[in-house]
Amino acid sequence: MLFLDELAEFARPVLDALRQPLEEGVVRVCRARAAVCYPARFLLVAAMNPCPCGEGGPPGACRCSEAARLRYGRRLSGPLLDRFDLRLDVARPDALQLLGGPPGESSAAVAARVAAARAVAATRGVTCNAQLSGWALEEATALDHDAAALLESGLRAGTHSARGLQRIRRVARTLADLAGRDGPLGEADICLALQLRAEPHHLAVVS
Ligand SMILES: [Zn+2]
Repeated sequence: MLFLDELAEFARPVLDALRQPLEEGVVRVCRARAAVCYPARFLLVAAMNPCPCGEGGPPGACRCSEAARLRYGRRLSGPLLDRFDLRLDVARPDALQLLGGPPGESSAAVAARVAAARAVAATRGVTCNAQLSGWALEEATALDHDAAALLESGLRAGTHSARGLQRIRRVARTLADLAGRDGPLGEADICLALQLRAEPHHLAVVS
């Protein structure tokens, strides 16, 4: 796993260099006399603040100018963000949570659910659904009528790219697997996958 904290503090050429290994699972180094290919299939996790001062968003006390906020967001290209399966806006925890609210679900319970979903993925010949492609992806992520209509409207409106469409279907399949459902994906599966792939609304993303 590669974890990049403060993602927007990395230089844009560095971030854009991640696009090819994320897509192909290899790093290609080409020099005058030779070209070498190294395996590079990894899980990319990244975090960033909503703005340079880190206070952006309600109730917030952001000290950044509008120009500074725009500059910060522009460091992430649209094509790079498109390659993240999940994009979540993490809200500031409230005071009661920080002072000790009710305990959440145990890691052991979550791990058992993940192991069960991975076992389902293994029946498709992959270790996780992110590796599904081609006909295996089509077969595993068949859509019912309403799910297909929902994705079609998003494609026509330009909300999803072709690459994004594949990622949405893989995430929806994983959500259904985690819930123990098989068969074609429904509208609810696609809706949930779309909620987990929100446009980072604090950013002025450019392509
Ligand atoms: Zn700020």
